Amino acid sequence: MVALKNSAEIKAMEKACRISAETLQLAGELIKPGMSTKELDRKLHEFIKKQGAVPSFLGYGGFPGCACISLNDQVIHGIPSDKVIIKDGDLVKVDVGAYIDGFHGDNAATYAVGEISPEARLLMDATRDSLYKAIEAAVPGNRLGDIGHAVQSHVEQFGFGVVRDFVGHGVGRKLHESPEVPNFGTAGKGIRLLPGMTLAIEPMINAKGHEVKILKDGWTVKTVSGSLSAHFEHTIAITTNGPVILTRP
Ligand code: MG
Repeated sequence: MVALKNSAEIKAMEKACRISAETLQLAGELIKPGMSTKELDRKLHEFIKKQGAVPSFLGYGGFPGCACISLNDQVIHGIPSDKVIIKDGDLVKVDVGAYIDGFHGDNAATYAVGEISPEARLLMDATRDSLYKAIEAAVPGNRLGDIGHAVQSHVEQFGFGVVRDFVGHGVGRKLHESPEVPNFGTAGKGIRLLPGMTLAIEPMINAKGHEVKILKDGWTVKTVSGSLSAHFEHTIAITTNGPVILTRP
């Protein structure tokens, strides 16, 4: 069942989402060559605590970090580690959420470290653009398939692959709520989008092929092809006036 939120609940969610967005922005400012992903994670955790919030991901299903930090051909769910050192040329994906006043926020971004290849730049830009196209499609009266179709039709024109095995989701009192929000689909199909839905829309896009596998650590998801992958995510609310991005700093 989809938990629709009233305007007071959406108002309450704004705080969790703002903290999530500020944490993600901080990640972008902190990332530099030579830093371990654990050190980055520690700083993000400190920031979230200072806001009086709790990291949504820490301990979720046993996840051992505050943020998921995934490099290059890793798609999502990278575990922060002292042994993983960020280098020039890396694509660093940070996915982080904050919980406060009974609600979660959830957002993600891909950051380029120094110089990256034109192909990597195109992948990042196309993935980010596909997120905003999906958000534009999240209007009352549209259907869930319109969101996935917006992502898929945008990125596939570049030959990129939409990850199928992991999808976006409802978010609110729980980190993962109904419905699932695939990044692929058919326009005009699926459940009707309604005011009061709060969704985490999160295209995960591979440079080559859509297949992914989970590493032996039980968490890290990487591309089967070994190609780069990009990920962007916002938490949005669907209102009678259209979509509102809640994860804005
Ligand atoms: Mg999410």
